[in-house]
Amino acid sequence: MSEINRAVKGTNDCLPDESHKWQFVEKQMLETAKLYGFNEIRVPVFEHTEVFLRSVGDTTDVVQKEMYTFDDKGGRSITLRPELTAGTIRSVIENGLVNGALPLKVCYIGGCYRYEKPQAGRLREFHQFGVECIGAAEPNADAEVIALARQVLSSIGIDKISLEINSIGCSECRKEYHKALKEYFSSNIDDLCNTCKDRLDRNPMRILDCKSPVCREIAAKAPVVLDYLCDDCRSHFEKVKEYLTAMGIAFSVNPHIVRGLDYYTRTVFEFVSGDIGAQSTVCGGGRYDGLISQMGGPQTASLGFAMGIERLMLVLKNQQKELPKAANADLYIATMGDNAKVKAMELSAILRGDGFIVETDICGRGLKAQMKYAGKSGAKFSMVLGDNEIQNDEANIKNMLSGEETTLKLSNISNQLFDVINSSALDALAEAIINN
Ligand code: ATP
Ligand code: MG
Repeated sequence: MSEINRAVKGTNDCLPDESHKWQFVEKQMLETAKLYGFNEIRVPVFEHTEVFLRSVGDTTDVVQKEMYTFDDKGGRSITLRPELTAGTIRSVIENGLVNGALPLKVCYIGGCYRYEKPQAGRLREFHQFGVECIGAAEPNADAEVIALARQVLSSIGIDKISLEINSIGCSECRKEYHKALKEYFSSNIDDLCNTCKDRLDRNPMRILDCKSPVCREIAAKAPVVLDYLCDDCRSHFEKVKEYLTAMGIAFSVNPHIVRGLDYYTRTVFEFVSGDIGAQSTVCGGGRYDGLISQMGGPQTASLGFAMGIERLMLVLKNQQKELPKAANADLYIATMGDNAKVKAMELSAILRGDGFIVETDICGRGLKAQMKYAGKSGAKFSMVLGDNEIQNDEANIKNMLSGEETTLKLSNISNQLFDVINSSALDALAEAIINN
């Protein structure tokens, strides 16, 4: 196959036989977020490049290596969003929402674009669900946001996953910490990768998040930020832990988590799965008390998280979790002859208006081929319409699983179909209970 007939490297199609899984997962996300008062925000897929430079940070992997940046025809530098927090905060400031009722709680689902080396769990187009809780400085806000992430995961069937938390302090505690890091890494400077050599002066904490194996090994023995927290940051972190414990949320403190984006302060956290190989972080988040003022808004303490939906799907697959099945047709109406075709269109219109999923032949197939399609497509019931059925105002519908037939009056089809579907669902339920 020639290159232009293939999806671009690092991108995936979501085909019709798997989209229902995504729909289910996304529905759970939005509904769970609603339980905590979060409503959806939709922001553009691209922004002025500056939006990401100012928020994500110019010493991060994302900005240094991964952004899809181009000049548009008007000569503006545009970037496809590598994440959604930056655009969300830009929008919240631009639309004056930071000056309205706080906390402002928003959530989002959308595509993100990063020029990365494609591998399992690492794509160039991927999707995130995330939340931002804007204008809440108290540590119970941190616990609430973490609890929401936890509940989203369990609502889609993921309970086997661990939560790791850390505090990376505020700009005050970082001063001392940066000094200690610089000292430590300076003594290892020859072994650091070139990117990290450059980071040493500008932002030594970024070295802790480097993916190169040698830098990782050196970083593992670096001073940890928890030892440098000021009193306020330390007590904030203690409270977060107390609230999480009160909510029955298990966690472990991992002093090595710093997160890959520059805007975090104080609490940072990750949900990590042991079931999907090297790309094991399914959800990352934390507090970003300085971001909104850094982006031109008023000082507003805030926090949020983002989860990678493709990685979640991998966890579900590898943990062999069953997701709800796609909805197939309730009724397939097969037709014999022109009158039946007209009648089928009439009945389909009535039934679909009442919320049934109905299909009929639109390919001009013979009866046998129509029935074959009905079977293959997984229709629950089928009906054959011909001149006799129309004349008698009666037709048999057949349960495609059990083969059982029931006669329905065509002039009152909706009510009867509703009864038949319900009673067959009850039968199936009873059978499942007996078999269990
Ligand atoms: P990683 O350390 O794996 O590169 P990150 O720190 O860059 O992750 P974030 O920017 O915090 O990740 O994004 C939040 C979540 O989005 C990640 O935990 C992950 O689930 C998902 N994610 C990030 N990059 C990708 C990618 N290239 N492909 C698929 N999912 C991704
Ligand atoms: Mg990354």
